[in-house]
Amino acid sequence: YYDVLIVGAGHAGAQAAIALRQFGFEGSVAMIGDEKDPPYERPPLSKEYFAGDKSFDRILIRPAAFWAERKIDMLLGRRVKHVDPSARFVTVGNEEIGYGKLIWATGGSPRMLTCNGADASNVHAVRRRDDVDAMMAKLDQIKHVTIIGGGYIGLEAAAVLTKLGKQVVLLEALDRVLARVAGEELSRFYEAEHRAHGVDLRTGAKMDCIEVKDGRATAVLMADGGRIETDMVIVGIGIVPETGPLIAAGAAGGNGVDVDEYCRTSLPDIYAVGDCAAHANSFARGAQIRLESVQNANDQAKTAVAHIMGKEEAYEAVPWFWSNQYDLKLQTVGLSIGHDQALLRGDPATRSFSVLYLKGGKLIALDCVNAVKDYVQGRAHVLSGAVLDQAQLADASVPLKEVGL
Ligand code: FAD
Repeated sequence: YYDVLIVGAGHAGAQAAIALRQFGFEGSVAMIGDEKDPPYERPPLSKEYFAGDKSFDRILIRPAAFWAERKIDMLLGRRVKHVDPSARFVTVGNEEIGYGKLIWATGGSPRMLTCNGADASNVHAVRRRDDVDAMMAKLDQIKHVTIIGGGYIGLEAAAVLTKLGKQVVLLEALDRVLARVAGEELSRFYEAEHRAHGVDLRTGAKMDCIEVKDGRATAVLMADGGRIETDMVIVGIGIVPETGPLIAAGAAGGNGVDVDEYCRTSLPDIYAVGDCAAHANSFARGAQIRLESVQNANDQAKTAVAHIMGKEEAYEAVPWFWSNQYDLKLQTVGLSIGHDQALLRGDPATRSFSVLYLKGGKLIALDCVNAVKDYVQGRAHVLSGAVLDQAQLADASVPLKEVGL
């Protein structure tokens, strides 16, 4: 039995455990995680870790000794299969572990292809350390990599692999990369950058299946009859939230587990945080969404812990995110979903600019490329919700903090 039991030892689970002790919680705490490693940062898996620029030790969220020092029991390499919300226990293998409060922080599993050849030994996802270690172990022997999916993970992987001298083909089924998360201006910029770095980036590219020989993918076959010879396939087409046991136990949810503003699920004393938690986000104008970001994982974890400790502090953190590709540092703040206008600030040709997203004249989000000042100063405007002077917003010579109404 634990007073607080955390399921999932990723970003959100780790932050929940850290926050409990930071806020002075003295009860028993344990974290159950199905990976073998203590909590580590996931963003470097498609960036510095994959590139070989950072060792695994350097991406640990806390040094390995931290957890025991804080009296946080780590039950690693173990997966929760079942939750009993009335008797208040979870099942791990044959063992039942009781809880006072349960924090569900299980993230998501990579969505995989369903076509023929999807299970070949050299078809990889990029979600866990093991996924990336498996790829890194083979990189020496390969030249051609095909990446399926032009989201952040696919693009970051393309940048790393190109730098490592691999020939990369990136296939995006829609008519532009980053279509789900960014405006067209940003998509076109990144497409051009990748092509300039030698990536064979194809949009509107519909694959049919993977050709396999002796258990290994040898080519990606396209719907239009095209054929791309390959030594490795990387699939970056999103995640499926890991909610099975909670939904089976009766929690409300669909795409993720539904939570309220304190990260409570519909089941008593069970909270959900991070990538798996669907919540009404005020920066998405109240839409029920899941956010897949370190910011959201950390801030929701703190909200749940505060609530467990008797403080009702509704979750309303400003969403932010980053992505590193080549020498380009993208920082985003706010959520551009539902924008009705996009303004370009600065010249993409200088490789330092921002795209500003407006709705009803209000600045709701920014994508800032090598433009840290815009990112920092734009944040206040996203929070204030004021209608701003558009000519000034689009004028890069006027600092954003000086833009008036
Ligand atoms: P996770 O970190 O995925 O942790 C969940 C853990 O729970 C996992 O270890 C999982 O194995 C475990 N688990 C699942 N089910 C069970 C079960 N039943 N029993 C026990 N354990 C279970 N975000 C950014 O903000 N910026 C970035 O640049 C960025 N880059 C990224 C790059 C990559 C390659 C990836 C994969 C993600 C990136 N993200 C980035 C997203 C960010 O990493 C996630 O939003 C964050 O990890 C979410 O934290 P989480 O705790 O909800 O889930």
